[in-house]
Amino acid sequence: MNHPCHTLPKKTLGCFPTPLVALNRLSDHLGGPRILMKRDDQTGLASGGNKTRKLEFLMGEATATGCDTVITAGAAQSNHCRQTAAAAACCGLGCHLVLGGERPDILDGNLLLDDLLGAEIHWTGEYRKGEKIPEIVEQLVNQGYNPYVIPYGGSNSTGAAGFVAAVSELQSQLSDMKASVNSIVFASSSGGTQAGLVVGKKIFQQGFDLIGIGIDKGEAGDGPFSDHVLQLAGATADRLNVDDDFCRTDIIVRNTYLGDGYGVVGDLERRAIRLTAETEGILLDPVYTGRAMGGLMDMIKKGEFSSRDTVLFWHTGGLPALFSYAEDLQQ
Ligand SMILES: *Cc1c(COP(=O)(O)O)cnc(C)c1O
Repeated sequence: MNHPCHTLPKKTLGCFPTPLVALNRLSDHLGGPRILMKRDDQTGLASGGNKTRKLEFLMGEATATGCDTVITAGAAQSNHCRQTAAAAACCGLGCHLVLGGERPDILDGNLLLDDLLGAEIHWTGEYRKGEKIPEIVEQLVNQGYNPYVIPYGGSNSTGAAGFVAAVSELQSQLSDMKASVNSIVFASSSGGTQAGLVVGKKIFQQGFDLIGIGIDKGEAGDGPFSDHVLQLAGATADRLNVDDDFCRTDIIVRNTYLGDGYGVVGDLERRAIRLTAETEGILLDPVYTGRAMGGLMDMIKKGEFSSRDTVLFWHTGGLPALFSYAEDLQQ
């Protein structure tokens, strides 16, 4: 189907459509609504994740504008950075990653993959959201490179277009399955996934609620996180030349599952990861999807959905981070 994202340059990087599956054993166990899962942990690109959708448009723009190097930022175990390193490798571009913290003695999880994928890593202590990018860009330009800056989480209007297109993909899968969905639940952190879904919902006239589960106490951008998502949705719609009239009620973010903060694993995440693994054989990650699934399980327990509802959990990936959280995940 033709839709507004086709006006943007795009690189094919992933395997789409990702599977849409029913989690019947988990639904039965929880005694709640029907649960579907969108398997964006299977997007390809060095073990999958939601950033692949954003990177198809970001790398499309980087190559269309003649850039030779990409630079982005994140936490040490950033899935976004690992997928960016893989995307750069397969497009033949250099990759600089600006990571929070200090270099550990042993690179594990996503960090191991960043290194194997040939990325150059810059350690920036307490700064994990790209604060040091301008400095490094200046150095790269002085060395004769033509860098393309990908913001923290790949969340600008270009990246978010990937999730506008994702709604169209989902729409045709749901119509093939003759299914409809009341709510979509997903982990929301830098906001590009949510902004893209919000814009796609409007373009493709979908009726589901979009419920972001907040992951990160430190808010992305300026002001409260929902304002940031609202602004990003508007910018994404402008980029695609579609109606950009969104309001606060379009942006639902639950900030009740933040526990002890970003990347700190608690009982909520441990239980959700184990139960999903034991009932469905599907692995969640400790930072994002474990927390978001923990949130969904709590909402089901509190009776927020009826047994006739269908809830779609959007699995946004993160598998490699499991291996660097071994200590926190053992009981
Ligand atoms: C980045 C990420 C998210 C959050 O997506 P945003 O677009 O940054 O809000 C969720 N889950 C995983 C596994 C991620 O890596």
